[in-house]
Amino acid sequence: MTRAIVIRAHGGPDEMRLEEIAVPDPGPGELLVEVAAAGVNYIDTYHRSGTYSTPLPFTLGQEAAGRVIGVGEGVTELAEGDTVAWGHSDGSYAEHAIVSAQQAVPVPAGIDPTIAAALMLQGMTSHYLVHSILPLGEGDTVLVHAGAGGVGLLLTQLLVREGVRVLTTAGTPEKAALSRGAGAAEVLDYDGFGRAVRDLTDGRGVRAVFDGVGATTFSEGLDALQPRGTFVLFGAASGPVPPVDPRDLNTKGSLVLTRPSLAHFIADRAELEWRAADVFAAVADGDLDVRIGGTYPLAEAATAHVDLEGRATTGKLLLLP
Ligand code: NDP
Repeated sequence: MTRAIVIRAHGGPDEMRLEEIAVPDPGPGELLVEVAAAGVNYIDTYHRSGTYSTPLPFTLGQEAAGRVIGVGEGVTELAEGDTVAWGHSDGSYAEHAIVSAQQAVPVPAGIDPTIAAALMLQGMTSHYLVHSILPLGEGDTVLVHAGAGGVGLLLTQLLVREGVRVLTTAGTPEKAALSRGAGAAEVLDYDGFGRAVRDLTDGRGVRAVFDGVGATTFSEGLDALQPRGTFVLFGAASGPVPPVDPRDLNTKGSLVLTRPSLAHFIADRAELEWRAADVFAAVADGDLDVRIGGTYPLAEAATAHVDLEGRATTGKLLLLP
């Protein structure tokens, strides 16, 4: 037998139960993995609450790393004993997880599995936001909301590595200090951030806004963009953004608005491997520091959700089964 965090109904963190289940068998093309660390991500709270629908019962979690202990028929690239990581496969809040071999990447020697688990969703997301939405580099200034969050800290570092000047927002002085440590040139209060952005860009506005906060920041963020700037709405930690009138994008300066998801940016095996290799190399080269902001036993996964939704966390949260 093994243990996993299962929901039998959508709702609050109290729906998350630690259940005893049989160790699953890997089917064709699948791996059975002994989980070393499972990442906690905002999307897990949407799966729990039903904001994103899931079948029920459902084992939460998208992201983890661990050792392969079983290999299904037809798997040739990975073998028992390999350490693998993934960021887009259901059921990782568990002592044992099944993952498609197509979704798993080998963890290079020298990268700790807990760090690998921390990178596969927020790190890969930061990678596509920096490299695959719009060209960014020296001379560009952007705004990143929630600069001390899991995505925020990694995204800031990867942008700074490209020579981009990064302004961020953060909810507390402690979070502001962490964001500065990640390379933010200026950390702003949420209150009046649009005006502060104008002041810091000679009235011009930023080239891009990276917004995972959503409801409370969207409208002011649109006004913080320079003409032909890009609004990258990648999440909604404060709630969903209401429908947008396309005419506003015109009147505010021929703006671009996109609402991307990681799944579309790891669209095939080559893209997954490219991003993972780049992110692992950034860690190995010392260009990317992964802050583990909190670790929890598997049985306390619900506390991790309370903390994440309560804005009480920084960096990456991990469950250690
Ligand atoms: P974070 O660690 O960034 O946690 C969310 C942070 O958002 C909080 O710590 C808080 O920071 C800020 N925040 C502002 N207002 C609120 C609010 N009302 N309620 C809760 N938090 C608030 O989480 P993640 O790094 O896991 O995710 C960040 C965002 O990125 C989420 O929206 C997530 O869904 C999205 N995401 C999107 C992906 C994609 O491909 N589209 C992939 C991965 C994540 P502060 O106190 O400083 O304001």
